[in-house]
Amino acid sequence: MKNILIACDLDNTLIHSYKQKRDGDMCIEWINGKEQSYINKETYEQIEELKMLARYTPLTTRSIEQYLRINWKPGAEPEYAVTTNGAILLSNNERVSSWDETSYKFMDEYRKDLDDILAMLESQKEDLHIRCRKVDDMYVFAYCEDGGSVEGIADTFSEKTRLRVEYFGRKIYFLPPQFNKGAALTRLKEKFVPEFVIAAGDSEIDIPMLEIADLAYCKESIFDKVSNKNKKSFTNETDLINSILGDVRQFSEVCL
Ligand SMILES: [Mg+2]
Repeated sequence: MKNILIACDLDNTLIHSYKQKRDGDMCIEWINGKEQSYINKETYEQIEELKMLARYTPLTTRSIEQYLRINWKPGAEPEYAVTTNGAILLSNNERVSSWDETSYKFMDEYRKDLDDILAMLESQKEDLHIRCRKVDDMYVFAYCEDGGSVEGIADTFSEKTRLRVEYFGRKIYFLPPQFNKGAALTRLKEKFVPEFVIAAGDSEIDIPMLEIADLAYCKESIFDKVSNKNKKSFTNETDLINSILGDVRQFSEVCL
């Protein structure tokens, strides 16, 4: 196997919600018995080949619990996965303690900020129409229900905290600044010293990792915002995995 690192976002990059279910999809995640996320069936099969050719590593904002809900094809389970927007590294689904140690040092600097923002959000949750919680003890997450203003909340609270505030859709994240996908990819590069790095993502939260990859796969919605002279766009997971497999096979041949 060539030392190629593929850092891949999950939601709307490699898998998609039941709301976007298409013919030929298969369910890959259930919540309390209810179908939640899907993947194209052919893509599901192809991950096995990708795993043989490269160090394929999901890099997701999902919590550990949310990540572990995903049912990979047996034999195609990623060896490593980064969850919690970079704060946690799993190796065969177990936390890597050296990664934790560094992350807890980062988080400790912002522990009070996290507790303060959570208390502020909690005290106003009815007025703001939000649900909020701490995720894996590393960042604070708020989900804005109908009637609340995501942008309004993000703007108001970013003035009151040292945490980095990111949002998309109905979700708002309050993060210690070190927990971003770019910093996580840098940490992965230090750990694995890859010869080539491919990153793939669909939203603004993916941009920091897309900008430091040797090759960035971007969904069209963010393509123009990504500063990387070696970037390509993709439309869905089938398109993405076929393109990445093409790149990885070519790279492997060049290196023979
Ligand atoms: Mg995504």
